[in-house]
Amino acid sequence: MELDWKRLKKRGGKLFMELLQDSRYTLLYDHRLPTVYERMVAVKNATTGGMIRLEASSVCQLRCPACSTARGKNRRGVIGWGFLKFADFAKFIEENPQVKTIEISNWGEVFLNPELDAIIQFAYEKGVYLKAANGVNLNTVSHATLENLVKYQFRHLSVSIDGGSHETYRLYRRKGSFNRVIRNIKTINYFKEKYQSPFPKLNWQFVIFGHNEHELPLARELARELNMEFRPKLNHTPEHSPIMDKEFVRKEGGFKVASRDEFASVKRRAYSRPCTQLWDSPQINWDGKLLGCCVNKFGDFGNVFEDGLNNTLNSEKYQYAQKMVLGLAPQRDDIPCIRCKVYRTQIAGHTMEEPRAREKLLALVQIGCHIKDKITELVRGG
Ligand code: SF4
Repeated sequence: MELDWKRLKKRGGKLFMELLQDSRYTLLYDHRLPTVYERMVAVKNATTGGMIRLEASSVCQLRCPACSTARGKNRRGVIGWGFLKFADFAKFIEENPQVKTIEISNWGEVFLNPELDAIIQFAYEKGVYLKAANGVNLNTVSHATLENLVKYQFRHLSVSIDGGSHETYRLYRRKGSFNRVIRNIKTINYFKEKYQSPFPKLNWQFVIFGHNEHELPLARELARELNMEFRPKLNHTPEHSPIMDKEFVRKEGGFKVASRDEFASVKRRAYSRPCTQLWDSPQINWDGKLLGCCVNKFGDFGNVFEDGLNNTLNSEKYQYAQKMVLGLAPQRDDIPCIRCKVYRTQIAGHTMEEPRAREKLLALVQIGCHIKDKITELVRGG
């Protein structure tokens, strides 16, 4: 039997990424073994390149009621209000050839950055993949930029559309236009057809609220028609527009649960715990401040544009934070995480000693099982 090496390599790469995803919970949270996870990330970085989060814009034009950008909180704090400059981006890429993937969306709307076209083109020329998986609202974007997304192989766009009609969409995405967003998606699809390109891959991100839950089936159908992957998301502010029909959301949301709290009690792990980004994809603010993760808006760990990426990641403060979020070191006042809800509700008060030999062995056995599953899947062609 002749082996299809190209397919095997592609499938193997995907399975390795899945292995990393599975292992981060086992290694970091269940057994608190960051050094083993660090080694796995190093292997991945050496083979497929490293990933960084570098926000292109903290500025947004919409007024979503539960968002700290729209409410002006971020503008007055560490995140500030501004755009990644092309000159900083180009210098960062030249100085860090190990970085091969960059997530550019976080607090703001990337399409408002006046130098975005230059950033997209430069990344393409340097062989760096860009993605905006955290989310874009896609309300304000030129025809030329939509074409550049396809022409320069922007990898992945997650479009935040919390509804299947303008009447519902505008209740949360205030100042936005459902019809304009759909038109922009159709234009991207037109260019994908023209250039015969699968990129950017498109996601329809639907944050489930009480006011839009009834439109889950409608939005799913529209996403299918627009060749987008439909990704419902449980909202992080359940007090804003609370879920009304829990049973319906359990069925239509795809999680079998209706809230993040319910997810945590059923799955016995947090719905979202972005602390892992400290290891595998650190967040950098548009002005170069190292934030560590996409949630941190409380303080920084130095400036990457001024002091270099590796120096900043290797600083005592950053490395202490890594131990602290695993509960391996007591809380310290200068670490931004102490003001974070994730730290306060899931980590604080659970400090433990470094794992002993038996716990390490147990973790390695579990990782061995993950690896065995992935190899079986690869051999079976699953
Ligand atoms: S505790 Fe909060 S701020 Fe700190 S790494 Fe985790 S999610 Fe980020």
